[in-house]
Amino acid sequence: MSATRRDFLGLAGAAPLAAAVGRRSRAQAQPRVVVVGGGFGGATCARYLSRADPDIRVTLVEPAQDFVTCPFSNAVLGGLRDLASITFDYAHVEAHGVELMRNRAVSLDPGARTLTLTSGQTLPYDRLVLSPGIGFRWGALEGYDEPAAERMPHAWKAGPQTALLRAQLEAMDDGGVVAIAVPEPPFRCPPGPYERASLIAHYLKTAKPRSKLLILDGSDSFSKQDLFTAAWQELYPGLLEWVPRSQGGQVIRVDPDAMVLHTDFEEVQVAVANVVPPQHAADIARAAGLDDGRGWCAVDGGTFESTVHPGVHLLGDAILAGAMPKSGFSANSQAKVCAAAIAASLRDRPPPKPALINTCYSLVAPDYGISIGGVYEVLDGEIVAIKGAGGVSPQDADRDFRRREADYARSWYANITTDMFG
Ligand SMILES: Cc1cc2nc3c(=O)[nH]c(=O)nc-3n(C[C@H](O)[C@H](O)[C@H](O)COP(=O)(O)OP(=O)(O)OC[C@H]3O[C@@H](n4cnc5c(N)ncnc54)[C@H](O)[C@@H]3O)c2cc1C
Repeated sequence: MSATRRDFLGLAGAAPLAAAVGRRSRAQAQPRVVVVGGGFGGATCARYLSRADPDIRVTLVEPAQDFVTCPFSNAVLGGLRDLASITFDYAHVEAHGVELMRNRAVSLDPGARTLTLTSGQTLPYDRLVLSPGIGFRWGALEGYDEPAAERMPHAWKAGPQTALLRAQLEAMDDGGVVAIAVPEPPFRCPPGPYERASLIAHYLKTAKPRSKLLILDGSDSFSKQDLFTAAWQELYPGLLEWVPRSQGGQVIRVDPDAMVLHTDFEEVQVAVANVVPPQHAADIARAAGLDDGRGWCAVDGGTFESTVHPGVHLLGDAILAGAMPKSGFSANSQAKVCAAAIAASLRDRPPPKPALINTCYSLVAPDYGISIGGVYEVLDGEIVAIKGAGGVSPQDADRDFRRREADYARSWYANITTDMFG
């Protein structure tokens, strides 16, 4: 397709009439990529597509005016930042040549290659990229529906829910019990609940030291567990308690009116409950059958093209990405590979060899950071970790090392948000 476009451009230089014809034909032939979701995967992909080939018309569909990042929302809960510092607008995305449509995608027709919006408008596309994130499985945890989330916030999509949970923590009396209910995996950001527990514990230790924080866990192990556990013993002894599933940690029912969490073994009365509900791919991906009924969507790891519908690519939390975790950094890295693959295919070229990376930093306290990182390759369409290329922070590092990792976490955040929105 692009070879034809460039042929026209070549002719256009030869004569004024040919130039006029060339411009018209070029406009007609201009390929269009529509990207749904202006978060970590979508905003990155839209920008990198536009950068890879300015001849591609890139349309980003996102209903929100601003994007509030989940990364560093735990720092807001811990009182280390405000919401404004993790909120970004799309001005620079638009300035980089991306056409922004403030709308919500409701359905797609993969045969006709069209996407329909809430406005009723139908957008034709040559390639569609979906990075819509997660949806909550309301009711999968007994008693936890949308009204319940106003009493027991999830704060697992950043924004008003983050503000609500922070306000509840501030309003709580010293001596109250705070509980974080963690679902069974898979869920967005595997280390997220434990970083959150750490930073809420930091707030309680400094502002409400007679309080108690419980992590009621649907699992018996978690990401960076040894590092978190050692840090908690050092920083929050007696304040923070982790209850694994095998010791009755799994929350099986919630009662928001009574502020009670039910586990297999007991009823836990709490002052503040942060319930992270079970999750699946966001509605638009499941409605289109891209999850094949499994809740999460399968893709080819080299191009991020759906294994269900050709011409549709998926990124980020909505997909099963082999060894890559559901993180903002993963979505950002996948978006660049996807953009390069789409730009190549629209020029009838093979996709470049993908290189994928991820690092998940967690703050355990403002000056105490830990991390886990991975580098990935694609074998037969599957994303696999390259052995020996990643790793976790050393278990026996000193406080200076932890302080530096906290600085790296802040630098990572500044870099990735500039990459997306700067
Ligand atoms: C508490 C917490 C802490 C975290 N910390 C980190 C961290 O430190 N590092 C890290 O790498 N990751 C972190 N994450 C994970 C990270 O937030 C996600 O992995 C990342 O946001 C996934 O990117 P995404 O593009 O899939 O979805 P998102 O970034 O959520 O973007 C989805 C976008 O799609 C839009 N959308 C949804 N449906 C539609 C539709 N139908 N039409 C149009 N638009 C739609 C939404 O409005 C949204 O803007 C954290 C998560 C949590 C909850």
